[in-house]
Amino acid sequence: MDTEHGTIFIRLYELLLESYGPRGWWPLLGRVGQPGFDAEGYHPGFEPELSNTDRFEIAVGAILTQNTSWINVRRALGNLSRHVRDRCTMLSPEAVLDIGTEVLAGLIRSSGYYNQKARKLMRMSSMFAGIKGVPERDGLLNLWGIGPETADSILLYAFDGPVFVIDAYTRRILSRVAGFELDASDQVYHRLQSTIQNALPRDTGLYREYHALLVEHGKNRCLKRDPLCSDCPVRGMCDYIVQKP
Ligand code: SF4
Repeated sequence: MDTEHGTIFIRLYELLLESYGPRGWWPLLGRVGQPGFDAEGYHPGFEPELSNTDRFEIAVGAILTQNTSWINVRRALGNLSRHVRDRCTMLSPEAVLDIGTEVLAGLIRSSGYYNQKARKLMRMSSMFAGIKGVPERDGLLNLWGIGPETADSILLYAFDGPVFVIDAYTRRILSRVAGFELDASDQVYHRLQSTIQNALPRDTGLYREYHALLVEHGKNRCLKRDPLCSDCPVRGMCDYIVQKP
């Protein structure tokens, strides 16, 4: 285990958790109204047992959230869920395949790039309909339009896979706090991912909460331009404010 990085990553996690509290990701629209879930499907401090419908909803959400905000994804998922419910069925790979690419694109319009995303969802649904259990990471990566971040989000949040998700917020915050590479290439993705995984305990609950906290911090304080450093819970361990002119 990489203890030097481990100390930094654990301290960062503790400070973010203390500041923001548990985030309750991945939100599940299909579970709103059930104990432990809030009005938007978040479940802070509660790790629900996932059904196949939940897992598929997470996988669909992971594709819909590419290049857009969660508010837009929620509208798209809401439309899709209503559409399948009106046909007396549940959200599933088979239900999505039955909808067809054109109608699906209309239902998910609010998520942007809806024609591309509809094609991606159809391909992922074909794959999911043909397998039982956990999809292979390589199988997901071989699907058109699914890169490491989307594949790992699906594996970690839907299938409890021990993979740390790296996104733009993770790269930005870790480049500022710990001098990591900012580059968005797959090579840097995997280098950063294995550094984090070697430094942290292999704990999928920790990976999920940590990623959600980095997203929260990146959206609210560690902004791309003009980060709000004076009000930052991790400023005491951040190199960026030292280097800032
Ligand atoms: S001190 Fe500033 S740059 Fe560093 S993590 Fe906080 S907000 Fe980001």
